[in-house]
Amino acid sequence: MQTSASIAIIGGGPAGLMAAEAAIGAGTAVDVYDAMPSVGRKFLLAGKGGLNLTHAEPIDSFLSRYGSRRERIAPLLAAFGPDALRAWVNALGIGTFIGSSGRVFPTGMKAAPLLRAWLQRLRAAGVGVHVRHRWLGWNGDGSLRFATPRGERAVHADAVVLAAGGGSWPQLGSDGAWIPLLEARGVAVSPLRPSNCGFDAGWSKHFRERFGGTPIKSVVASLKSRRGGAFRLEGEFIITENGVEGGLIYVLSAPLRDEIAAAGTATLSLDLAPGWELSRLMHELSRPRGRRSLSGHIQSRTGLKGVKVGLLRELVTAEDFADSGRLAAAIKALPLKLVAARPLAEAISSAGGVAFEALDKKLMIRSLPGVFCAGEMLDWEAPTGGYLLTACFASGRAAGAGAIAWLKIRN
Ligand SMILES: Cc1cc2nc3c(=O)[nH]c(=O)nc-3n(C[C@H](O)[C@H](O)[C@H](O)COP(=O)(O)OP(=O)(O)OC[C@H]3O[C@@H](n4cnc5c(N)ncnc54)[C@H](O)[C@@H]3O)c2cc1C
Repeated sequence: MQTSASIAIIGGGPAGLMAAEAAIGAGTAVDVYDAMPSVGRKFLLAGKGGLNLTHAEPIDSFLSRYGSRRERIAPLLAAFGPDALRAWVNALGIGTFIGSSGRVFPTGMKAAPLLRAWLQRLRAAGVGVHVRHRWLGWNGDGSLRFATPRGERAVHADAVVLAAGGGSWPQLGSDGAWIPLLEARGVAVSPLRPSNCGFDAGWSKHFRERFGGTPIKSVVASLKSRRGGAFRLEGEFIITENGVEGGLIYVLSAPLRDEIAAAGTATLSLDLAPGWELSRLMHELSRPRGRRSLSGHIQSRTGLKGVKVGLLRELVTAEDFADSGRLAAAIKALPLKLVAARPLAEAISSAGGVAFEALDKKLMIRSLPGVFCAGEMLDWEAPTGGYLLTACFASGRAAGAGAIAWLKIRN
């Protein structure tokens, strides 16, 4: 096909590749540039534990996962939402299924077959993929600067889609180095912060050594933030060497992180025995324990075992532990103080990024006509559950289509 203009896409993750797919086929040359030796590294890692593509819940609950950015994400998902994403995966020759929790996975759970089929289709459609091309900003003549193994290269493009990701797992390519490049151009960027991350709790040596790596199942965690928000969720998490991580913690990571930033600490209240009334616990624990140890007594009377009893021992004073009433109250509402979010590099995703206020409806940076943004580098966050990839794909599609539309108006 004869090409009359060119689009450069910076970042070959899900958002950038989707932008390429949306842009190719309109008579425009489309080239993807990525700093790493291969594209889609974080996407492939996401597939290691089972690639959770999207979620099958009703769209209203789905949109609620984007919190304060709901209004910004809604139009993107209206154009390319969870159902469209599943149909798109199917069209690549890969089936999808809904897991027991409503999470949607590709058949086989892995990202690699999907990425392979997708790259093949993109290349066949004419998309150029240039790896080991690290974007460094702009030259004075408006061309893009890339560091390559053969030295610096200047690329002229009529439109640009930036899809350089957030700041988690920087070893996979997305390291947030684009932030000063955009800030130097006056673009508002909210600092990157860890999202879907673990937290430090400051365990004792004994507890860390005995229970580090152990899952805690079926608890209800409540959080009342000092700024008024209240959360109450049932789920599981894992005791880590430093604190806690895992599904339940990730869902609460945004309010926990913001609470720590505002007040220095955040305190989760844990119900370790969700199926039990407080009165029944008190009754059972006040029964004679004979020659059993206190821990043995708790286990035999309440069924609480191992790590849950260990957690009580860790967090409750010896006096409260020995008092059946106070112990029962602690089992139903155990305060777990968290002192710091784990670093961004360890998080699953990032909060912060290019402010939506800096963009128009097609995701073009208002102050940089012809430059679009997509994916995790935008200022939104969501819990795990497929919400991250869904919004990355949808925003990539919008940015790619936006670039084509902009080129048409301009010519
Ligand atoms: C362990 C883990 C598991 C996950 N599991 C899931 C899951 O199951 N479901 C889900 O929805 N989400 C999951 N995620 C999150 C999901 O992978 C990301 O949200 C998604 O990959 C972000 O897509 P993106 O295209 O915006 O950015 P990225 O995938 O980060 O891609 C950005 C690309 O830009 C390139 N780049 C960066 N800077 C430059 C530069 N200066 N020049 C050139 N190229 C550059 C990078 O090399 C990279 O290839 C997981 C993340 C992790 C870390």
